[in-house]
Amino acid sequence: MSSLILKPGREKSLQRRHPWVFSGAVAKIKGDPQAGDTVEIRSAEGGFLGRGAYSPSSNIVARIWTWRESEAVDAAFFRRRLEAALAARQAVVSREESDALRLVYAESDGLPGFIVDRYGDTLVMQVGTAGAEAWRDTVADLLLELTGAKGIYERSDADARELEGLPPRSAPLRGEPATETVIREHGLSLKVDIAHGHKTGFYLDQRANRARVGLLAKEREVLNCFSYSGGFTLHALAGGAKSVLSLDASGDALALGAENVRLNSLPEDRVQWLEGDAFKALRKFRDEGRKFDLVILDPPKFAPTAAHAEKAARGYKDINLLGFKLLRPGGLLATFSCSGGIDAALFQKIVAGAALDAGVDATIVDYLHQGPDHPVSLAFPESAYLKGLICRVN
Ligand code: SAH
Repeated sequence: MSSLILKPGREKSLQRRHPWVFSGAVAKIKGDPQAGDTVEIRSAEGGFLGRGAYSPSSNIVARIWTWRESEAVDAAFFRRRLEAALAARQAVVSREESDALRLVYAESDGLPGFIVDRYGDTLVMQVGTAGAEAWRDTVADLLLELTGAKGIYERSDADARELEGLPPRSAPLRGEPATETVIREHGLSLKVDIAHGHKTGFYLDQRANRARVGLLAKEREVLNCFSYSGGFTLHALAGGAKSVLSLDASGDALALGAENVRLNSLPEDRVQWLEGDAFKALRKFRDEGRKFDLVILDPPKFAPTAAHAEKAARGYKDINLLGFKLLRPGGLLATFSCSGGIDAALFQKIVAGAALDAGVDATIVDYLHQGPDHPVSLAFPESAYLKGLICRVN
């Protein structure tokens, strides 16, 4: 087996079980490993650190599969890891909460490069790295066997694949997967476009937060920005909102949202769908003096990594400032960031700055985060990416 020998001192993060090897940490490569091959990672002194997948085109040149020298990376290895991931999901999301959940969350399940979401009888698999690509067929076969799902749809079309030198791929992979389906979430039905929707079709990570915010919507005029297929909108309507203005840049997402309102027989006359850029729309509402009682801000990822943090921070500050300005006294701002490059403390600082500049006195009444089917590995803090605050304007 080929090996990567690290520069002196660069073994420290691996000893703390952080599973990434950066190209700058590697002193030399022994052998002639190809993309996706399993390689050994050794310290400058030659000590075994881990066994991982080689990604020559990426800045993250290897990701650890196992820390144990005695453990081979083979089909039996992937069976054990998948069984463990599935077992870990047993208790965290009950059937009453949803029939859709994340079954495999990459590094947090010891399976870097693999995301697997379940939507009813269909699994959606996302393969993001050269290492995962090499084991894609093995993992697909195992998933079908271990879950009893009807089929697997592959949505390997995330931008990050480009960094790995992998082409995008989106197609049925095993069995007979649905291309669209209706999932249940906290008593509501939601149509999910598996073949064309964002990510693997839906934002499963916000499940609990949608329910939480919905319960706060009673008799409020709600503005749901970045609404996608109307997840928060449905929950707000079900929670007794007076009205919901649902805004998104994607007309397709809004059309799906309107369909979801009908599907649940929720009051269509209380919801309005607006296609447009949230930055512009919020400014316009501010200039018109419009007011709401609950503003939800769930923008896309502005900062995929810490390198984008500064520009992203300006974006968050901007929309949160506008969000605060649009609230009546006693109003609530439910604001989120799914940027890995902005941690919870920085996000809170940004929101505090926004409140200050908006001239409002606000308090945090709740801290929110990604759902329990997106567990956070303590050794890999990057796996904690979604954070949210519910702020009350006093
Ligand atoms: N809240 C949603 C998920 C939102 S994802 C849920 O619970 O399911 C982010 C959404 O922002 C996407 O639907 C995307 O189309 C939209 N979007 C991206 N940039 C935007 C912009 N500048 N203005 C408005 N919407 C935008």
